[in-house]
Amino acid sequence: MPTTSLKTSPQCHEKKRIYDLLFRVTAFILLTVQPGAVLCSAREISQEGGISQEKHEEIWSPAPYDAKRAIRNDSRPADRKMPVHILPPLAQEERGLIRNVTPEKGEKVLALTFDLCELDTSTTGCDMDLLGYLHREGCAATLFMGGKWMRSHEKRVKQIMRTPLFEIGNHAWSHGNAALLTKKGLQAQILWTQAEYERLREDLQHSAKVSGETLPPSPAVPHLFRLPYGRCTVEALQIIADLGLRTVQWDIPAEGRPVRSQQEAARAAKALLSRIKPGSILLLHANRVPTGTALLVKELVPLLRKSGYRFCTVGELLEMGKANISWDGYFDRPKDNHGLDRRFGVDGTGRKKPFLGEE
Ligand SMILES: [Zn+2]
Repeated sequence: MPTTSLKTSPQCHEKKRIYDLLFRVTAFILLTVQPGAVLCSAREISQEGGISQEKHEEIWSPAPYDAKRAIRNDSRPADRKMPVHILPPLAQEERGLIRNVTPEKGEKVLALTFDLCELDTSTTGCDMDLLGYLHREGCAATLFMGGKWMRSHEKRVKQIMRTPLFEIGNHAWSHGNAALLTKKGLQAQILWTQAEYERLREDLQHSAKVSGETLPPSPAVPHLFRLPYGRCTVEALQIIADLGLRTVQWDIPAEGRPVRSQQEAARAAKALLSRIKPGSILLLHANRVPTGTALLVKELVPLLRKSGYRFCTVGELLEMGKANISWDGYFDRPKDNHGLDRRFGVDGTGRKKPFLGEE
């Protein structure tokens, strides 16, 4: 009986060669790829410790989509207009706007705050040169985000939510001017933003659960509000307080003239140092609209540290002493921002028709 069992056919030989190749490739991958490296792509933007130093540096550096107007404008209303989590109204002593805090023990502490404003009519950027610097320096800050800005910059918002160093505050949906909006319009500007934060946080929590990532604790919704243009009325401040948010102004508008060089930044930082006091709240921007903010901050932070200051979030600052309350919003002196009422559409949003919150 003829047999071919000990002989291999050409097809069989080819099969063996392919299996052998597959085995070698698999062995190579298993032996050379570090455990956890495969997870990096799923956790591209991750909490400290979860990724390599190199990757870490990369995600805190500017990317093309961080440029001003790099993202196509989307003026549609928010998908979720009412947050699930509603804050209780504020007590009487918490109402009004906070200009700064007097630290109980006189500590040299201050809060850097950065607004991320975006009108209905265009998109702004995300200054990763600045945020990357703060992150590398371990410099705490409070970031007041517009709800529409959060939607345009979802990836960056989630990255910031993973970072305990930064606190997130509410900066209205599309930069509506609280002195010009109707009650319903102002409520919608605030609540749509609370809901957008909540939506992104839920999304992040869901993906963290799937990948096994541990997220730092974060509030269900922001507790702090920053007035667009610093504009308000007493009635508007009461509406904001009824929604449970504390209004945070500033005592130092830190961006004066545009800063174009390191020398100009050093001069501006020195001038600011003479005005800053313990408990100060500084107004700055991280949306790449004012120019030179990153240059200024890189000069200011070492100067303040050398003078003995340390940085904290507004939330932390409020726990350290008495908030100095006012019922009038302005930059340096009363009414210095009233001229802005007519420059950005009918109500600060850039729109020709008023924002009524019924869209
Ligand atoms: Zn703003």
